[in-house]
Amino acid sequence: MSDYQEFHRRSIEQPEAFWGAEAARIHWHKPYTQVLQYDNPPFRQWFAGGETNLCYNAVDRHLAERAEQAALIYVSSETGVEQSYTYRQLYEEVSRFAAIMQAQGVGKGDRVLIYMPMIPEAIFAMLATVRLGAIHSVVFGGFASASLATRIEDAAPKLLITADAGMRGGKVIAYKSLVDEAMELAGSAAADKVILVNRGLAEAPMMKPGRDLDYATLREQHWNDRAEVEWVESNHPSYILYTSGTTGKPKGVQRDTGGYAVALASTMEYIYGGKPGETYFSTSDIGWVVGHSYIVYAPLISGMATLVYEGLPIRPDPGIWWQLVEKYRATVMFSAPTALRVLKKQDPEWLHKYDLSSLRALFLAGEPLDEPTAEWISSELKIPVLDNYWQTETGWPMLTVCNGVQPLPTKLGSPGLPVYGYNVKLLNETTGEEVPVGEKGVIAVIPPLPPGCMSTVWRQDERFISTYFSLFQDRKVYSSFDWGIRDADGYFTILGRTDDVINVAGHRLGTREIEEAVSGHAAIAEVAVVGVHDTLKGQVPQAFAVLRDPSVLKDPEKKAALEKEVIAKVASQLGAIANPARVYFVNQLPKTRSGKVLRRSIQALAEGRDPGDLTTLDDPTGLEQVREAVQS
Ligand code: ATP
Ligand code: MG
Repeated sequence: MSDYQEFHRRSIEQPEAFWGAEAARIHWHKPYTQVLQYDNPPFRQWFAGGETNLCYNAVDRHLAERAEQAALIYVSSETGVEQSYTYRQLYEEVSRFAAIMQAQGVGKGDRVLIYMPMIPEAIFAMLATVRLGAIHSVVFGGFASASLATRIEDAAPKLLITADAGMRGGKVIAYKSLVDEAMELAGSAAADKVILVNRGLAEAPMMKPGRDLDYATLREQHWNDRAEVEWVESNHPSYILYTSGTTGKPKGVQRDTGGYAVALASTMEYIYGGKPGETYFSTSDIGWVVGHSYIVYAPLISGMATLVYEGLPIRPDPGIWWQLVEKYRATVMFSAPTALRVLKKQDPEWLHKYDLSSLRALFLAGEPLDEPTAEWISSELKIPVLDNYWQTETGWPMLTVCNGVQPLPTKLGSPGLPVYGYNVKLLNETTGEEVPVGEKGVIAVIPPLPPGCMSTVWRQDERFISTYFSLFQDRKVYSSFDWGIRDADGYFTILGRTDDVINVAGHRLGTREIEEAVSGHAAIAEVAVVGVHDTLKGQVPQAFAVLRDPSVLKDPEKKAALEKEVIAKVASQLGAIANPARVYFVNQLPKTRSGKVLRRSIQALAEGRDPGDLTTLDDPTGLEQVREAVQS
């Protein structure tokens, strides 16, 4: 057995010993009485009875040793602002912000909704909230008022924190006016108070007397105020965060405090290899789970500097991220395949312009990392590129290669092995039996879920069980709703979502398998495959592909020839059963705001149905292109 297998086995077979040792990574105000309390499955309590605080671990704890070290480095390519905060400055901003909140009546257990662009105040607000034992609910700044309103209704926040505006690609996007609309829509659940961080980007935002408060004014008033840390029991909720909504059903994930801090701290050693004093650069947004875990909490708990970036990866030029890696000597970088595909379309010289020697590894998560993109970036950077598979629900990776435990090879197309703490199984959907090597199944986790994973659906314990633990009636296993396959070495490959599985004449195919085959064709930059109803076969695959060189589309003959070539490519790789009935060429795919392909909407349009809930859609152009393609 390899060292890693042994390590993983111990985490599953002796969870109390394993996690008891890991718990020493964080500060406990009061020691826990039990590592794992599991008398009401699938609910579990990690480090029961222990008292801690997420903000204390992320900020105050570092003051003794690294007060003058950078904690937060902020760069906005939208506004040109670039500013660094030391741990001492971060402590001052956060404890002052917490005092401001306290003065507005916010205390333990109250919800604070944060609807903000990527500015330092957003992170101060998150940390200030958990400092008080209050619960944050960050709503991604790109969501419109209706989506924001449903999240306000669910969380019923006492306080809402926002900004006048965000900026994207040089365009000002108003926030405050959307908040005003959402507060109207939310009715009685609307927050009592709104704090506005005015960046001076939008025209003088409306300020509702008695409700709306200006942050700069409050900051002056409370200049010398510092709120103390509120110690909370380990299982006290730290935050609520909605899943991305790719399936049209966002779920309010509730997270604990102590377990989350311990799990994140452990990943910094075992997965990311980040060390205190170094710089961690995650290109995500605080509105997503990657932003919560790997922009804010994990780097700060670990005493690193976190690089917070507002802007696009290609503005002012496609070298901006690499320029920042060089300037701040980032050692760990975390991004998403969708962003890498954008960069791949640019001149490769941008990657060679900068000194990237500080970077030890690049991590990617959020959707399947296609093989051409993985190959390209690995060969360009010449450092390990690691695919992390996880979900909002888990809060930290479920599948990857844990190089900090034992360096093991990566395999193209596979995130790797089950991460310690996760007893991952591939199960047959109907029988619930474990499937043999090389057979497809649902990715499931035998509970208890490890520390830091979701505690429940916010205020809906019943929904937690009915959504996640009811795939098989008799056995309460956690279902990821993703489909996968495993090789003889135990490496997993994600085949797509169980919702998206394509059933062709009784053969079940993952969208991913066909997508990989299509994107193996040199002309294809990106592709989505969906199953479309067919009277004869049940379903047939259809592909929607973005070309590297869209000028081909102007020539109908070339276009038809290319479609044939792509179909032949799939046939040669997967057999005729997987053949796309059609390959449509589009300039853009419809994606969620977190960069995930909205296959359910593509499928609906291809079947002539309504595309469904589009509140998470990023840019309507992609969807329009699909509509035009299937109607032409
Ligand atoms: P919702 O649950 O609301 O429909 P969502 O599942 O897209 O939205 P997230 O929690 O942000 O919300 O995304 C997790 C999902 O993203 C996973 O379940 C999986 O489908 C996909 N995913 C994440 N990382 C990877 C990866 N490395 N490889 C393949 N798929 C991934
Ligand atoms: Mg999901």
